Amino acid sequence: KLSKRLKKVSDHVPFGAIVGDIGSDHAYLAVYLIQSGKCPFVVAGEVNQGPLASAKAHIRSNGLTDKISAKLGNGLEVLENENVNTVVIAGMGGPLIATILEEGKERLSLVERLILQPNVAADHIRRWLLENNWKLIDEEILEEDSHVYEILVAEKGSGLTPYDTEDLEKQLWLGPYLLKNKNTAFEKKWKRERQQIEKINQQLALSGKNELLKEKKQKLSQMMTWLEEE
Ligand code: SAM
Repeated sequence: KLSKRLKKVSDHVPFGAIVGDIGSDHAYLAVYLIQSGKCPFVVAGEVNQGPLASAKAHIRSNGLTDKISAKLGNGLEVLENENVNTVVIAGMGGPLIATILEEGKERLSLVERLILQPNVAADHIRRWLLENNWKLIDEEILEEDSHVYEILVAEKGSGLTPYDTEDLEKQLWLGPYLLKNKNTAFEKKWKRERQQIEKINQQLALSGKNELLKEKKQKLSQMMTWLEEE
């Protein structure tokens, strides 16, 4: 059975999309997208042999070798010679997802939608999207097995972004759509984060006072202010 997290990711895949699932691991999402009738074809990319083998086994046992192409490759490399119009990158840290996008950005010319599911540090991805003319069109935050996950959905386009420029840093950090539509997962995540920041602040207070620490303290106190506003 598909996890709640991957089901929510799949909800953002447009009907009929040709999907590239980057870092597909066992290919659960790819198999679900085909079996549910949502997608006609999926490219499942993997950089590691082990997960690729398990993807292939899962695809074969479901009789889907003609509908899912499991390919070995780093990041967006596997999109070469494919007609993928929707890219999913799920279950990794935000910085790794941003690196995969940055390193493969010339392979995104045919791609219309990105569905990104960072486990941590989604702000890295929002920053990359903003700098590369991808417009955030939706966000989601959910809890499963006491982990909190974010899903970011983007389409090409500059112009009007959802980011309120007056508070750009806050929006990049907390998420413009998530801020507008707070749920219990959001509250939980940022309550935890606040406790972390408080702990770091206490540790910093005990250590010396060089310039670097001063900067860090300022950043943390800014973050606390944002969280207190919410
Ligand atoms: N996407 C699945 C999910 O959300 O359940 C699997 C997530 S799994 C934690 C991350 C997978 O990404 C691993 O199988 C890993 O081998 C793969 N991966 C990591 N870096 C990658 C890269 N640069 N290109 C392709 N796959 C990568």
